Amino acid sequence: MKIYSWKQLIWALVIVYLPLLIIGILFNCLTELLLAAFSAHIIWHYYYLKKLNDWLWLSKSTVLPQGRSEWEHAFTGIHNMQQRHRKRRNKLADVISRFREGSEALPDAVVVFRKEGQIIWCNRLAQFQLGFKWPEDSGENITNLIRHPDFVGYLKADNFHEPLDLTSPINPDKILEFRVMPYAKHQRLLIVRDVTSYRQMDEMRRQFVANVSHELRTPLTVLQGYIEILEMQTEENSYQSKAVTVLDQQTTRMCSLVEQLMTLSKIEGAPSIDLDQHVDVPALLTQIKNEAVALGDKKVMSVEFEIQDDLLLLGDQMQLRSVMANLVYNAINYTPAKGSVKVVWRSSAQGAYFCVTDNGDGIAPEHILHLTERFYRVDTSRSRDTGGSGLGLSIVKHALTHYDSELNIESTLGEGSRFFFVIPQNYLA
Ligand code: ADP
Repeated sequence: MKIYSWKQLIWALVIVYLPLLIIGILFNCLTELLLAAFSAHIIWHYYYLKKLNDWLWLSKSTVLPQGRSEWEHAFTGIHNMQQRHRKRRNKLADVISRFREGSEALPDAVVVFRKEGQIIWCNRLAQFQLGFKWPEDSGENITNLIRHPDFVGYLKADNFHEPLDLTSPINPDKILEFRVMPYAKHQRLLIVRDVTSYRQMDEMRRQFVANVSHELRTPLTVLQGYIEILEMQTEENSYQSKAVTVLDQQTTRMCSLVEQLMTLSKIEGAPSIDLDQHVDVPALLTQIKNEAVALGDKKVMSVEFEIQDDLLLLGDQMQLRSVMANLVYNAINYTPAKGSVKVVWRSSAQGAYFCVTDNGDGIAPEHILHLTERFYRVDTSRSRDTGGSGLGLSIVKHALTHYDSELNIESTLGEGSRFFFVIPQNYLA
């Protein structure tokens, strides 16, 4: 780009004023001549300034006015700047229209809003699914349109790691999943998906498992009764007696499997825990300890409990018992004779800390991530010996989600394992 330099400016002045100076001195009329020249110069500048002002403020034409000398330079500069702005604006408009087209093509409702809540933009699905009106709702606070207290709390908490499920604000039969993510500077992007059919299918599966387990209970109880009678009637060490023992073992296994399935579907189905109930965890752990010590004695192993007596929780006794008992019994079951198991229940900076450590079999790293999946067992035959179904840790995982907590597993094959979790402060009684 050509730059109009001081040198050029001075040259232009010299070319105009030097001949005038010479003529003025020669004819002895320097003052009059310079005055006339200055006046003409000022008029010339005012003429172009007016031209520029008219073009900037009055004319709608995009064609620049013609200029001379430094004015030509200034006009070209303005023209170039305008071109650059136009190009940048077109590019930006292109990006926005691409973003809008993309958002319209999504099968989800999309809303962009400011951190403080004012809606900036929404796609067409947001108008169908959330009942937004566009452009009337532009600038409206999102919490005035989605008034559900859980949604307001979700935005306030500013923690968007987990999505939020809510009934639709315009159709109570629909379940919507709300996901919020930080977007651009001080903005939020809300994506809303209709998950009614997923949730219904999930509920159907849970109901089915709960019903089947419940229906299996009665025939199993009848079977157990007859097996007990058979046990009394068969001669010791006879072929029938061995068969009855196997029958007894297998029905007991089936009973425990049915119990675990029922516990799991009950925990999965519970919407949230009742925080009005106090759970005396130390008393609960003392019960588990008595059972665990009896189990441990059979295997000649040391079972140690370190319990903080005043650390009580709010919530559901059945769920907490399932969590703690499953972890303690697993440690005993998967630790060979002469091993040791230590259970700790104490307060920590984050809340209540529960930990079970053993020096038993340990678990290979590739299995650790899958342990909480339903029916996952590392060694099927070993688990069968211990009466394991592969549901225990799945129950633990689900129950802990009700307490905003998660199970942590550290283990080294052949050396032992550590299963632990922390229940946050707000669940402490
Ligand atoms: P199971 O009813 O088979 O014990 P779980 O869900 O409780 O099912 O455990 C899943 C698998 O995790 C078990 O089959 C076992 O292989 C492994 N496991 C659980 N706890 C321990 C432990 N303390 N030490 C070693 N392996 C364990």
